[in-house]
Amino acid sequence: MIFKQIEVGNMQNFCYIAADEESKEAAIIDAGFDPELLVEEAKKFGLKIKYILLTHNHYDHMQSTEILVQLTNAIVCIHKNDAQALHNLKIKTLEDNEELNIGKIKIKLLHTPGHTPGSSCYLINNKLITGDTLFVEAVGRVDLPGSDIKQMFNSLQKLKNLDENIEVYPGHDYGSIPHSTISHEKQNNPYLKCRTFEEFSEIR
Ligand SMILES: [Zn+2]
Repeated sequence: MIFKQIEVGNMQNFCYIAADEESKEAAIIDAGFDPELLVEEAKKFGLKIKYILLTHNHYDHMQSTEILVQLTNAIVCIHKNDAQALHNLKIKTLEDNEELNIGKIKIKLLHTPGHTPGSSCYLINNKLITGDTLFVEAVGRVDLPGSDIKQMFNSLQKLKNLDENIEVYPGHDYGSIPHSTISHEKQNNPYLKCRTFEEFSEIR
């Protein structure tokens, strides 16, 4: 698999490119800034962008979607609960556990609401792209319109139950390292260490 983590814009946003080496089919995950840079990077490997996958509907993760569609003709996908923000684009809405393919590689959406109602992570082989749900040693905000702290707690429990070797690729470069693992987060992320919602709501 070809997999690239690319920092874009001036808010420390990460975008990702994942591709099947053999068929060259690829997905861009999140489309906040610098769409031309992402397309250039894909071109270096001769990739064909099949999907633009959005982790949620905040502008710093999706404002370049329209330009990217013009540049690549790719299909835009987002969880159905965050789809209303993209009303002017033709999109494919996804549900929890829905799977897509790029060549032989499977991509699975895990619905992890809390930061927004449709916030989702994408699991690609052993790499989990976590948007603004889980950062390295931190978690996304839950004080925004559409946020829900209880849902966030439940979503984090879901991520905690994943295989510990799964690599975590966040939506922002906010941590001491650019990406980590579920195991690292269970040991070092104060929000993942909380065992009860009460503990979580005290520190969040
Ligand atoms: Zn956000």
